[in-house]
Amino acid sequence: MLPKFANEPYLDFSDEKHIRGMQEAFVQLRKRASTPNMLYVGGRWTKAKEVFESLNPATEESVGIFQKGAIPDAEKAMKAGLKAFETWRKVPAIERAGVFFRAARVMRSRRYLFDAAMVLEEGKRWLEADADFAEAVDFLEFYGREAIRYDQAAPVTPYPGESNEVRYIPLGVGVVIPPWNFPCAIMAGMTSAAAVSGNAVVLKPATDAPLLATLFAEALEEAGLPAGVVNLLTGPGSGIGDHLVEHPETRFISFTGSKEVGLRIFGKASKVSKGQVWVKRVVAEMGGKDCIIVDSEADLDAAVEGVVVSAYGFQGQKCSACSRAIVDAKVYGEFCKRVVAKTKEMVKVGPPEDPKNWMGPVINRRAFEQILEYIEVGKREGRLLLGGKKRPGKGYFIEPTIIADVRRNARIAQEEIFGPVLAVIRARNYGDALAIANGTEYGLTGAVYTRNREKIYRAKQEFHVGNMYINRKCTGALVDVQPFGGFNMSGTDSKAGGRDYLLLFLQAKSMTERF
Ligand code: NAP
Repeated sequence: MLPKFANEPYLDFSDEKHIRGMQEAFVQLRKRASTPNMLYVGGRWTKAKEVFESLNPATEESVGIFQKGAIPDAEKAMKAGLKAFETWRKVPAIERAGVFFRAARVMRSRRYLFDAAMVLEEGKRWLEADADFAEAVDFLEFYGREAIRYDQAAPVTPYPGESNEVRYIPLGVGVVIPPWNFPCAIMAGMTSAAAVSGNAVVLKPATDAPLLATLFAEALEEAGLPAGVVNLLTGPGSGIGDHLVEHPETRFISFTGSKEVGLRIFGKASKVSKGQVWVKRVVAEMGGKDCIIVDSEADLDAAVEGVVVSAYGFQGQKCSACSRAIVDAKVYGEFCKRVVAKTKEMVKVGPPEDPKNWMGPVINRRAFEQILEYIEVGKREGRLLLGGKKRPGKGYFIEPTIIADVRRNARIAQEEIFGPVLAVIRARNYGDALAIANGTEYGLTGAVYTRNREKIYRAKQEFHVGNMYINRKCTGALVDVQPFGGFNMSGTDSKAGGRDYLLLFLQAKSMTERF
């Protein structure tokens, strides 16, 4: 019998064995860096015309050479998917799930390699990388079980003289477009959900995260996934993305990334291409401008710690990161003092390969420059309390930055910065704090720190975010514990890691037989 789903525990990096494992994996990955990685199309590892390099954001060294997929490669991937779909959709759900359970086992056997790849390619610190890995494995295990559950006929009301049944069937070939910031979890989660449901997939990973997608494709191959069910197409979103989204044979698009790209995809997918015989389904999970409300009746030390961890974990590059602290006027001065002290004490910046560093670099030069520009805007919009500077030398390091006295409508209080920048906003009272919290176009995550039960109840009613937390940080949702997805411009609220998620990749067929 299949054991009940349970979240994957994290590695304890104080254990020498794990330290050695990580160090060996760094060596292995550096050896591999000079060998070009391939596309994986129709079960074969193939080349494109051009290649590109993925860079380590801490050192600017190459972590690997990857194929720059172009439109002819996208066409081959689509054809391979269409062919594979014809057989894969008929494979019993239990067998499809079995492939993903085996893939989870293969991945566990290479855990250090996956973790180390995230340290080198995305600049994650060890624990953040391992949490990302654990979430990926959770997705494989959870969605496998969900596929088996959805394979059961849905309940219907009996009707005299007829046999009625409703069954969930897959959609077709979908394009999966993940972001770079959870290069293992989101990429593997989106891909496995679509594929385990019986669809075929063209996976176009982010340009900043091709290594993780390649390691995942290798694990799928080893787990025995039939050729063409998942096709890996590395390359620039701007070139092949539009082509795949507009393709008449694309049945669905599963996207996670910025609001700008998400809305572009949404717009393009809504136009019917020549020869297209369906309405494309779009799942688009997008950005956030998440906040933590610190009420006058909060445990201030707990709130300060929650804000610091949520604001600077993975350099603030999480869609769930706290980029606004909304603080009741009664505790505002004290909060500002303590949040500066806690950040100085906790957030040591440096190359993430050294596990003593808490915060690494931001992902690439473009992000680095954009975040520094936002800091300049922030200095004009508020009072710089801490940080504000880049680190000299190689790598894209930015100091943890706190800007206080920010107006609720200021740019740094409204726009997603996606970096280690916290805006502190003063609220007149709790009602005002909730209004500020809801006062952006986004609605992804948020937290409230208060000891007052009435205020907790009010937050549950009025705080309009997809993932709300009381008296804890606003990052770190777990699979099947806190299904994840946002409201408003944060996306289509798909609730990844939840029990409704696979429905997005299925359609219900109602069948009636009259006796
Ligand atoms: P992004 O720039 O929007 O890119 C996301 C993906 O879209 C990448 O694979 C990208 O490929 C691809 N892409 C770019 N242009 C495209 C086009 N014209 N057609 C099709 N695909 C295209 O976002 P990101 O910088 O990777 O990720 C950060 C964003 O993701 C933030 O806004 C964050 O809040 C959001 N996010 C949201 C969630 C959530 O669950 N709501 C979770 C994680 C992240 P290239 O890399 O090749 O350009």
